[in-house]
Amino acid sequence: MGKRNYGNTCSFCGRSMPSMFSGMDNDVLICNECIEQGHQMVSALPKKSASKEDSLNMENLPTPAEIKEFLDLYVIGQDEAKRFLSVAVYNHYKRVLQEISNDDVEIEKSNILLVGSTGTGKTLLARTIAKMLKVPFAIGDATALTQAGYVGEDVESLLVRLLQDADYDVNKAQRGIIFIDEIDKIARKSENMSITRDVSGEGVQQSLLKMLEGSIVNVPPQGGRKHPDQELIHVDTKNILFICGGAFDGIEQKISQRMNTQVVGFAAQQQAAQVDKNNLLQYIAPQDLKSYGLIPEIIGRLPVLTYLQPLNRDALRNILTEPKNALTKQYKKLMAMDGVALTFDDEALDYIVDKALEYKLGARGLRGLMESVMTDLMFELPSRKKIGTSQSFTITKEYVAQKLGVQKLVQLKNAG
Ligand code: ADP
Repeated sequence: MGKRNYGNTCSFCGRSMPSMFSGMDNDVLICNECIEQGHQMVSALPKKSASKEDSLNMENLPTPAEIKEFLDLYVIGQDEAKRFLSVAVYNHYKRVLQEISNDDVEIEKSNILLVGSTGTGKTLLARTIAKMLKVPFAIGDATALTQAGYVGEDVESLLVRLLQDADYDVNKAQRGIIFIDEIDKIARKSENMSITRDVSGEGVQQSLLKMLEGSIVNVPPQGGRKHPDQELIHVDTKNILFICGGAFDGIEQKISQRMNTQVVGFAAQQQAAQVDKNNLLQYIAPQDLKSYGLIPEIIGRLPVLTYLQPLNRDALRNILTEPKNALTKQYKKLMAMDGVALTFDDEALDYIVDKALEYKLGARGLRGLMESVMTDLMFELPSRKKIGTSQSFTITKEYVAQKLGVQKLVQLKNAG
């Protein structure tokens, strides 16, 4: 661009104008009016990437305390995990943002591993962080992943989902968060692999490793398998934050073994006396993950290791009422839209929690329980409004008991 050509016609409007600009080879010309018009059209296009105020910068990056405060609005308990996560996320985005300034000190990436039973809030924590920071977010399950070339999902499929969440804005996706659940399920079956090699698990770990380390991954735009002549999108995973989660069933045994072998001498005996045997997960260390069958390279790429507590009665009870979008709040809102003021008796909520515990439904099961309690009501109340009757309804313990018969509970248990 830039060379002026006089006397020829514009390749776009066909007119000969006083100011004409040519392409590199002089074979395409554009007039000043067409440039003006093109500029207006481009300006009118919806902005794909986040606006300046929306995108993260050092001024609007929330502090760890602010991140934790936000997490507290949605996630009950799990203080330790929240603190680790807040610091790791803060450092991660500082690292991403500092790349712009030419500094010599390289801050290493702080991918995170959350260890805790299923349904304790691992996914919720990761999702809530992405929501707060307004960055693209994708969830994948490690068990669905296979080594490239095997039947199943390729590791790249995680990046496809992230790209989709970023509306195919590659730059935005490259600063997103990917949550990989059930990472424990791709552990090798035994630490000593001299005789039998569990190729599949280790193979997937190797494929994941590439992504966690930070590399340019070629992603087929629509997901699915790569075709030889398909245009691929190059996604750099260097600034993507990976949060992995896993239940690591039975890891307490590895923790306890390690702690026992470490315990030698008097001081150690004293230390052993202070060990809380009911909650060994709090002592989890990278060696335990190795004993469990994660390859050291993966462990090295997940330097932030923290744990989630099993949810006790109080936590389950709080989940019903406390989070910003707690289930009871959601049903109240739905009913309010029909002009019905809904209230829940405390005993009714206690009863729901009792059943969640009795049938081992966990936090995830609370939704199904509430839905079973509420369905008939949500069916009937809107019509009552039309004939101008009852404007309020209280969910009592008796009402809940009536809706949650044994058959229903067994059904919910089998579904979960
Ligand atoms: P995990 O990833 O640990 O298996 P999730 O985060 O998917 O568990 O939790 C499942 C559901 O249970 C969540 O969507 C949420 O409704 C509820 N839940 C679990 N833990 C918590 C918690 N600590 N605070 C609030 N809700 C929770």
